[in-house]
Amino acid sequence: MAKRYQGCAVGIDLGTTYSCVAVWQEEHQRAEIIHNDQGNRTTPSCVAFTDKQRLIGDAAKNQAASNPTNTIFDAKRLIGRKYSDSIIKNDMMLWPFKVIPGVDDKPMIVVTYKGQEKRLCAEEISSMVLTKMRDIAEAYLESPVNNAVITVPAYFSDSQRKATKDAGAIAGLNVMRIINEPTAAAFAYGLDKLADCKEERNIFIFDLGGGTFDVSLLTIKDKVFEVKATAGNTHLGGEDFDNRMVNYFVEEFKRKNNVDISGNSKALRRLRSACERAKRTLSFAFDTVIEIDALYQGIDLYSSLSRAKFEELNMELFRNCMETVDKCLIDAKIDRSCIHDVVLVGGSSRIPKVQQLLQEFFRGKDLCKSINPDEAVAYGAAVQAALLTEDIKKAPELVLLDVTPLSLGIGTTPGDLMDVVIPRNTTIPKKMTKRYTTPEDNMTSVCINVYEGERTRAKDNNLLGWFKLSGLPHAPRGHPLYVCFDIDADGILNVSAWEETNCCRNEITITNDNERLSAKEIQRLIEEAENYKVEDANFLEKANALSDLDRYVYKMEKALKDKDICSKLCPLDKEKIESAIAKARNLLVGDNQQREIKEFENFLKGIFEPIMAKTK
Ligand code: AMP
Repeated sequence: MAKRYQGCAVGIDLGTTYSCVAVWQEEHQRAEIIHNDQGNRTTPSCVAFTDKQRLIGDAAKNQAASNPTNTIFDAKRLIGRKYSDSIIKNDMMLWPFKVIPGVDDKPMIVVTYKGQEKRLCAEEISSMVLTKMRDIAEAYLESPVNNAVITVPAYFSDSQRKATKDAGAIAGLNVMRIINEPTAAAFAYGLDKLADCKEERNIFIFDLGGGTFDVSLLTIKDKVFEVKATAGNTHLGGEDFDNRMVNYFVEEFKRKNNVDISGNSKALRRLRSACERAKRTLSFAFDTVIEIDALYQGIDLYSSLSRAKFEELNMELFRNCMETVDKCLIDAKIDRSCIHDVVLVGGSSRIPKVQQLLQEFFRGKDLCKSINPDEAVAYGAAVQAALLTEDIKKAPELVLLDVTPLSLGIGTTPGDLMDVVIPRNTTIPKKMTKRYTTPEDNMTSVCINVYEGERTRAKDNNLLGWFKLSGLPHAPRGHPLYVCFDIDADGILNVSAWEETNCCRNEITITNDNERLSAKEIQRLIEEAENYKVEDANFLEKANALSDLDRYVYKMEKALKDKDICSKLCPLDKEKIESAIAKARNLLVGDNQQREIKEFENFLKGIFEPIMAKTK
């Protein structure tokens, strides 16, 4: 297999806040989400620079509070956009790190690394995250990972997709494909397999993450995914639900203790973490407690929160989400009753109230939620990566060394033509048998010359080897022979030949190390064959003319051997035929042009046909 396709292909969900990597496991027929060195199945899309080192993932996120200006997150919001883009301008106000305009208005992130100022583009940050995801996969798979499918939001523009691909290339990955996140989620549920040729399948993807909310309507027909409509909010997600809870407890703390913690970032950070944990708990419990020792001025926070209260605090945001769902369907001009599947993606889609509202919206439809919603995209990307790897094996032109790089065949007589048995770019292993006939009467042996190459004349190709098939039975020309080319997965070619009744058989084995051509040489030969196409076409015409002439001469010779015909021939006519045959034999071995050969054949016909007419 060609080097760049060696090893496993992984699926990477390169998220705004978290990333996830997965690999397809053939033996279990499912994708495996790969946990990182901290045992977590998702890794923060976060890179930090200190005066000593660069940190990526959990290590970067864990030190964010103490190094906010050099801890970079949200690179996905920057990638492939211009500095002057209003979205960037708004986001920038929320980031503790500095972003400045670079060449061509490219946003550049400014950090201090080992005491020096450094400017980095979003692709570089994303490539660092991708490198981390690759390292995670390599550690788990214990093998190099070169190929990946990376996901992007359905609304990403061409430049955002290209920049993501560039990030992959910077990370040393061969990005096999960039796919839409909702498409990946549909893949995770195998929904592509349910769509038959006749009927379109409408799939609604509801993706509510930590900071973004995306909905997409996909249709699948004939395995082709089409994004019909997308909608969403780039600033709505789990963090907003956390904020509503934080505000609630800040007010409660004020009311109970008469102190305001809203200006204290450390207290707020501790409260936010506790709220996020409580929110997760409320997805499976109806009540939870929040306990933070010495939250502010030595005062503890001890409180509780019910699921009902949590839902009340966030109901406005949840209703917002449903309005977006409605808008997407209106844009796509598809009625909710025509949706076949509703797929949940993103950690916040675990919230029971969100699920309930969505199910009610789709009139009680069951939701696809069996795969972890924060892992579904990576899962689907891994499925796609495995399919593409299969395709690569199947599509010969993509992998040079998994296929026969040049055509393989034998030289035929008359004319020394290359007769191809296994054409160039055939996937190996391959076994092909072809029927030939003896070119002359009573041949006791034939020589099988094995060539590789694209030229029409056998001797212009590379002679791999030859062998004799001896012990042929006495028979007129045209006696059947068979030649079999059998090339195994390692490129070892075995050529065997036998006579029809199997009275004789011989073979040759050609290995691919010494005699075969290097990749460079192969390329040269292919180019050469292109250049020589005209010359080869002329040669082919001449060879065909020779073959026609040979057949005609054979017919004449056969007539002379036929007692019945001979008895009706006068000696002069017989002499005329014999002399014509002798001249023809000379012409057959000489170096004549196609036109001369054709002319001579007509000349022969002019002699032979009238004589034969007399014998009828
Ligand atoms: P994602 O961006 O898809 O990784 O989603 C992360 C968001 O999902 C964060 O805001 C999490 O707090 C939230 N989340 C994860 N698990 C749960 C859960 N069980 N219940 C509610 N929210 C959750």
